[in-house]
Amino acid sequence: MLPDLERLIRLQRLDDATVETRRAVAAIPERMTGLETRLHASRTRAEDARRQQEEERKGRREVEKRLGEVQGRLTRFKDQLMAVKTNKEYTAMQHEIATAEAEVARLEDTMLEHMLRADDLDAAVDAAERADREEAAAVERERAELEEERAAMERRLDGAADERAKLTASIGAGSLRLFESIAGQRQGLAVVEARNGHCTVCNVRLRPQVFNQVLLNTELIRCESCLRLLYHDPDRPPDPPAEEPPGDGPAR
Ligand SMILES: [Zn+2]
Repeated sequence: MLPDLERLIRLQRLDDATVETRRAVAAIPERMTGLETRLHASRTRAEDARRQQEEERKGRREVEKRLGEVQGRLTRFKDQLMAVKTNKEYTAMQHEIATAEAEVARLEDTMLEHMLRADDLDAAVDAAERADREEAAAVERERAELEEERAAMERRLDGAADERAKLTASIGAGSLRLFESIAGQRQGLAVVEARNGHCTVCNVRLRPQVFNQVLLNTELIRCESCLRLLYHDPDRPPDPPAEEPPGDGPAR
């Protein structure tokens, strides 16, 4: 293979990898934000559970207070019952006592309901807080991993910059200028594979004599349509036939 062509292919791969790494580095802040969002969501779930628990407790305290008042009233009625003078007063007091007793029974039922709900809500708070602690630990771990990943990518970019400097120093000035000029105009993609008689990027069919020349890899040849430099990859297995007859055998 023409040495410059071989180096330009390596240069292209290096640049492609660099673009990809830069993109991955640029995506890290968004991934960090995603972790924050997860943490915030689990924290909010735990807070919601605690708020429901607190509201339930408040409701129960109100019923407890009301129950105490009605029980106090009932005790007073029972004391007063001893002091009544007339039948009419006695009947009226009996009625008051019956009403208060019914109220006590109703409030005791309500207390029971509150206690059952409190059990459920206590369990929900425990579960939400446990989940929150686990999520916080997971987020912390993933944040550290992301930082490591970022550092590794920064190191890779530094290494790639060194490698690029060495590589470009070994390429002929004219070849390098051609590469940089095409790359500058074609989103950084200057060297592309030709396969099955086509440019693999713009898909134009190459003239047979051009493609035959590309197969030799002995000179810099440009695609007539997208103007990129073309090469042939002798290691790539030939493409399978474009269309396979439909069959209902097992999937391979
Ligand atoms: Zn092309």
